[in-house]
Amino acid sequence: MDKMNLHRFFVLPETIKDGRVVIKGSDVKHIKNVLRLKKGNNIIIFDGAGKEYLVTIEDIKNDVKGKITHQEEAKDKKHPKIVLLQGIPKGSKMDFVIQKCTEAGVNRIVPLITERTIVKLNGKRLTEKQKRWQKIAKSSAQQSGSVTVPHIDEPVAFFKALDRIDSKALNLIAWEAETSNSLKKVLKQHCSLIQQEDSVISVFVGPEGGFSYKEIEKVRLEGAIPVSLGSRILRTETAGFAIAIMILYETGALG
Ligand code: SAH
Repeated sequence: MDKMNLHRFFVLPETIKDGRVVIKGSDVKHIKNVLRLKKGNNIIIFDGAGKEYLVTIEDIKNDVKGKITHQEEAKDKKHPKIVLLQGIPKGSKMDFVIQKCTEAGVNRIVPLITERTIVKLNGKRLTEKQKRWQKIAKSSAQQSGSVTVPHIDEPVAFFKALDRIDSKALNLIAWEAETSNSLKKVLKQHCSLIQQEDSVISVFVGPEGGFSYKEIEKVRLEGAIPVSLGSRILRTETAGFAIAIMILYETGALG
């Protein structure tokens, strides 16, 4: 069977039991009314944690029930996990960042409120935004055939995010004023760390106005390495995607 032509749905691992799966929520409407799938049709489901299943639909009512006919470990090549810490940009640009970085294979996105972040988010709005972005990640993974759905954190203040820096990871901050370290050079210097199983590369990207010197200094003190992406200034919504692609190409997972 040509799996490339089948529709893909992300489910939580707990919805899979005794060789069967139950799909709930907005995917049900999509299956019924948009794709018009019927009993007996095949779909792919994936759990975001590396497993994929071929499923035959058995029943479509308020939920969609299916029988698993084949299971396989997802085909993604092993690569370092990428965490993008993204200064929140204006308008809907963050949606674009999430979509594109999911396509590329980023594992986690931490939206950052930096000194130069313009949007004001607090309380309820933070949670709403996070939920919306998580949904975008899910549908983007379904659409692109990616087996990982990146986890989207709730937006966090830059200085708080510094507490979450993992000292075992390779921590980078994209800084257009950096003159000695390029991304390529730093990846080469740390190639043995990157090639270890379960290695993590985390990258900070600033909002439209970039990072302040104070932010660069603080992050440097926490052990992150400022890197340049070349002589052109990329837009904030392009930088994270470009970095993810470059890392994955360099480590052999893409291209
Ligand atoms: N305000 C700055 C540019 C900000 S670009 C200026 O106009 O000079 C937004 C973010 O993208 C930056 O904070 C940085 O993290 C990243 N970025 C864009 N181009 C880059 C480059 N050439 N090198 C390193 N980082 C870059």
